[in-house]
Amino acid sequence: MNVKDLFRNNIKNLAPYSTARDEYTGDIGIYLDANENPYDNGYNRYPDPHQKSLKEKISAIKNIPAEKIFISNGSDEPIDLVYRIFCEPRIHNVVSIAPTYGMYKVAAQTNDVEFREVMLDENFRLDSGKLLDAADEHTRLIFLCSPNNPSGNLLEKSEVLELLEKFNGIVIIDEAYIDFAEAESTTTLLDQYPNLIVLQTLSKAWGLAGLRLGLAFAHPDVSTVMGRVKYPYNINVVTQKIVSQELEVPRDTQIKEIVTERRNLEETLPAIPVIKKVYPSDANFILVKVDEPRNVYEILIEEGIIVRDRSKIPGCEGCLRITVGTPEENRRLIEILNGL
Ligand SMILES: *Cc1c(COP(=O)(O)O)cnc(C)c1O
Repeated sequence: MNVKDLFRNNIKNLAPYSTARDEYTGDIGIYLDANENPYDNGYNRYPDPHQKSLKEKISAIKNIPAEKIFISNGSDEPIDLVYRIFCEPRIHNVVSIAPTYGMYKVAAQTNDVEFREVMLDENFRLDSGKLLDAADEHTRLIFLCSPNNPSGNLLEKSEVLELLEKFNGIVIIDEAYIDFAEAESTTTLLDQYPNLIVLQTLSKAWGLAGLRLGLAFAHPDVSTVMGRVKYPYNINVVTQKIVSQELEVPRDTQIKEIVTERRNLEETLPAIPVIKKVYPSDANFILVKVDEPRNVYEILIEEGIIVRDRSKIPGCEGCLRITVGTPEENRRLIEILNGL
């Protein structure tokens, strides 16, 4: 498969906007090329549009060549970009699972691309055959999320592999929660499958949601074209600098603690009368079923705790999604739920 054949025609021949700083490399002392304010305050210069130094750091941490890395302003950016790169509005369509992360559908709607949803089974398991059945010759993308939000479970690897093998389009696997799971990332499959795009983020396990840093790992043809379509200065100076520093600080201990707390909650929650079902989780949140979700949600709010009400989403009837907090926060949650 040649992924370039899947690009929209306007994208195939796209000449990227070239920034003032693209035209030279090396050290220059006097910058009179970009109409910046010359007085240094730490922010007066434009950021590196290619995030070269940050990309090398991420490459070393993830053990993935820099040419396969696209750095984004959160995960929303690559989600939107794949529609703009691969999907002709009102001609192509996209297949995804349900329930899942809402942004895939929002991006389909803003790009005027048909979005086809295939329900996971009652245990949120993926049936690749059903997704392939929902696809046709106009299907360009399949969106997966593993561990899946809001259900929390990893998708079966054999089913994912079947989609990568049999689907003649792009398979996107959103791994926002992979660091909490006992599974290896599908980035190990990138060499084998040029049609695979893996999304990760620094918003969850790395604890940097406020900085807005997302990652897409893909075939160099795809990461290169993403770089051409994006806004030139998508990652600001402060984010590039602070992320660079934060990447030096491993999160292993914190992640272990969060996973331990999740396991504690998975053991404690089923014994609470108001909880009817606890779905197994490979992420940093747990989906639970209760009899009167809105009622439980409102009571928790009165007690100063906000959880996510997912009860109106097809497949999540009666369900609340609870993020794993600190041990103290989790104890308080259990205390209140026990009192209901
Ligand atoms: C939280 C989350 C993200 C991360 O979004 P950012 O824009 O990177 O903060 C991506 N995908 C899923 C499924 C998520 O739940």
